[in-house]
Amino acid sequence: MKLPNYVSGRWSLGQGAGELLFDPVTGDELVSISSQGIDLEAALQFARARGGPALRELSYTQRADLLEKIAEALAANREEYFRLSLLNLGATQADASFDVDGAIYTMKYYAKIGRALAEGKMLKEGALVPLSKSNTFAGQHFLMPTKGAAVFINAFNFPAWGFCEKAAPALLAGVPIVVKPASPTAWLTHRMVEDIVKADILPPGAISIICDSARDLLEHAREEDIVSFTGSGDTAARIRSHANILGRSVRVNIEADSINSAILGPDSSPGTDLFDLLAKEVVREMTLKAGQKCTTIRRVLVPRQWLKAFGDAVSARLSSMKVGNPRNPEVKVGPVVNKAQQSSCLEGLAKLREESEVLFGGNKNFQPIDADLEKSSFVEPTLLSSKNGLRAKYVHDIEVFGPVATLVAYDSREDLIAVTRRGLGSLVASVFSNDLDFTRDTVPGIGDLHGRVLVVDSNVAGQHTGHGNVVPSCLHGGPGRAGGGEELAGLRALLLYHRRFVVQGPVNGIAELSKSCVDTALLYS
Ligand code: NAP
Repeated sequence: MKLPNYVSGRWSLGQGAGELLFDPVTGDELVSISSQGIDLEAALQFARARGGPALRELSYTQRADLLEKIAEALAANREEYFRLSLLNLGATQADASFDVDGAIYTMKYYAKIGRALAEGKMLKEGALVPLSKSNTFAGQHFLMPTKGAAVFINAFNFPAWGFCEKAAPALLAGVPIVVKPASPTAWLTHRMVEDIVKADILPPGAISIICDSARDLLEHAREEDIVSFTGSGDTAARIRSHANILGRSVRVNIEADSINSAILGPDSSPGTDLFDLLAKEVVREMTLKAGQKCTTIRRVLVPRQWLKAFGDAVSARLSSMKVGNPRNPEVKVGPVVNKAQQSSCLEGLAKLREESEVLFGGNKNFQPIDADLEKSSFVEPTLLSSKNGLRAKYVHDIEVFGPVATLVAYDSREDLIAVTRRGLGSLVASVFSNDLDFTRDTVPGIGDLHGRVLVVDSNVAGQHTGHGNVVPSCLHGGPGRAGGGEELAGLRALLLYHRRFVVQGPVNGIAELSKSCVDTALLYS
């Protein structure tokens, strides 16, 4: 079966045989996708000309109602999304839930908070700026939904959540969306879009999906469009430097890869609750979605004297995690998404091994449960230990996008901060400590190079949201290597889809314009 694209308000099959999608456990062929021959310029133009005006005719509240209906349509098909997650991603129930339930929750969350924007159609920012002695001529800053299209180019690891976390704020802002999921796992996103289209919730042109290569899509992006990308740093660099994107100053938001850290505080010695809690968190991070999360802990920074004890604690927990075919109810860890990702993980792992000791796993010929080694795409969960700190050659640079983490010893606060910052810009770092002085010095030492810092002490041990868990009410993104993008953070996410401008004019005219506006203060409440 070949999945059709949904562009210009209709389903269209791409030409040729297309690209095949596989089951990463059995190696079976599933469906194919093709964007060949699809008029992508016309697709974008249809979204701008038909979808945009129809969405902008509605108020924020009315669009929040659309999101609610989308969430309902998706929730009604949740079981099917779990089935596709198993088939195309080899996802366990927990892996699928993280992606699918996270997607539905995010859509519902934006439906709910979007209602706070009442009946407005534009945003008003700050107070009047006096520009004349008589105060009859003044300036007022506004933000209006852009009249372009939002192009979403997504990564393979979150076909459901990655789609919804971008779609919800864009649609709430009144901007039509053109979705380009990553090819290896496009089926699930495709099915979600199909369900939304079938439910007839959105006006024509408000949603489109292109499966397979992006081809010439970026050639046709325009000044009023937004490209929101999630994926590897290499692809991000290609998109950022695309001649048309540069030439037209198209707004681009990049969420890229990241070498995230978790820090064990010097007070959290072996035998303390935080020592055990971080060991548990590291294992959860390594194994959930087989470590294929952009936020996964890649480096665990541990006081040098406890390196061995911590390695033993994590290894003991890893040894009880069954790896294999998720159709077997005992299995807790599934495969990576395909053979290409498996090779990429094993190559990265080989480099890390050059400078690190293997504490657990690392066998590229290990036997997963109920799966054929030749046909499947598994990577054995592997824990490494680096004693080289800042001098390590690879551990701070290579993102092994699988169930792999490396312990890195630190000797002092300065050393710890320098090593954490060596990630050169990350999505998240977490600090496990009860020592307020330690936390107070560490967080400002690393905050500017991280999008999120999670602090866990004994009081919040049972309540924290988790190192790798992205919640829609808080910022997702990170500087430097992580791409420099910003997503979510509640209603702040709408800023990406609005353009700021200032009106300088008579005060009564500005008052008239302001009538249909919502105050931007609401975005921060
Ligand atoms: P990728 O290979 O960079 O691909 C990402 C997307 O870009 C895919 O949809 C891909 O399409 C598309 N693409 C590739 N070349 C393109 C081009 N020249 N023009 C336009 N689009 C192009 O990344 P991936 O392997 O799917 O995802 C894994 C990476 O994503 C990891 O490094 C991970 O850290 C990162 N990630 C980051 C976040 C975050 O929020 N920061 C979240 C999830 C994942 P095709 O699939 O058709 O090639």
